[in-house]
Amino acid sequence: METVLYTIENPDGPLTENDLKAVHACGDIIKRGGLVAFPTETVYGLGGDALNESSSARIYEAKGRPSDNPLIVHICDLEDLRLITEDIPEEAYVLAGRYWPGPLTMILKASDAVPRKTTGGLDTVAVRMPANAVALEFIRASGGYIAAPSANLSGKPSPTKAVFVMEDMRGRIDAVIDGGTNEIGLESTIVDLSGDRPMILRPGFITADDLSDALGTKVITDPAILDPNCKERPKAPGMRYRHYAPKGEVIPVKGSPEEVLGYIKGELSAARNAGKRTGVICCMENASEYDADVIRSAGALDDAKAAAHIFYSALRDMDDENIDIIYVENFTDLGFGEALWNRLLKSAGSRVLELQTKS
Ligand code: AMP
Ligand code: MG
Repeated sequence: METVLYTIENPDGPLTENDLKAVHACGDIIKRGGLVAFPTETVYGLGGDALNESSSARIYEAKGRPSDNPLIVHICDLEDLRLITEDIPEEAYVLAGRYWPGPLTMILKASDAVPRKTTGGLDTVAVRMPANAVALEFIRASGGYIAAPSANLSGKPSPTKAVFVMEDMRGRIDAVIDGGTNEIGLESTIVDLSGDRPMILRPGFITADDLSDALGTKVITDPAILDPNCKERPKAPGMRYRHYAPKGEVIPVKGSPEEVLGYIKGELSAARNAGKRTGVICCMENASEYDADVIRSAGALDDAKAAAHIFYSALRDMDDENIDIIYVENFTDLGFGEALWNRLLKSAGSRVLELQTKS
């Protein structure tokens, strides 16, 4: 299959006439049961018709994704929630009012209109309205319901640029819409509203504090996803798999900034002496301190936004350079930093190097 690449001229909107033409051609592909990758504000999605079970089956196949790992349904109008869900709780409207369109996915009770292929066999459905002009127009042009996981091959880092989508999906899907680099760079926050009390199943740009504030009640995070030693299984099926992983070994190093710097420096020279190709993902201030084959730096250590923005592309760069071992400094794990820490843990297969802080 040939994968057609459509490049958007004005991704932040308003879309040009050519842009609209391209997006509508992609909407037609979806209506015919095809697959199109598209930009959102989080990462690129791999879209198919959420109400067509054979489209969902094709998504799992194109990604190599286990079919018990459900897809997020993307909508462009709050009204459209009614067809695909049942017993919508008041909290959903409160959160939609504050955060949609935006990087928040809600788990709600699914109606019979949603094929169980789309929900991975569950009676709940994940729904989100993305804050991206191209995505919203594309969803509208496709009939209103796009099932879309991230547009990477299963297990690999999520794509934050169309070239990364092409790397993984060329020949496997009908088209890719290139809308530039994603604004946030990490997947949406997932909050489960189908149980007795709201719970975050995957941390993201919208934090537990944001949600607690909006709902006027403390929203907790699934304990299984932040602690590498937790014995419980994560509640979101997708959080149970190793994920976001480059070919090289990822080593998150946690400790005081000075200890982390000193430790990584020592490890780099040992790894080099052992003939390994080395990489570092670090804060801006430390970039010139390290001697490694590839160094990718973001903002300050407490700037999770800057680190999240480059994280997945940094992991992909490491693969391009055949890096064997990748050290990552511990950026803040507070607020949005919690989401980055969670993805870092998954990319490292839950191994963390924790340095003993000397008092
Ligand atoms: P991705 O689209 O690649 O970001 O993955 C979607 C994530 O949403 C995965 O971790 C899924 O397991 C999770 N998810 C989707 N639907 C549900 C659901 N009904 N209940 C719990 N988790 C879900
Ligand atoms: Mg994914």
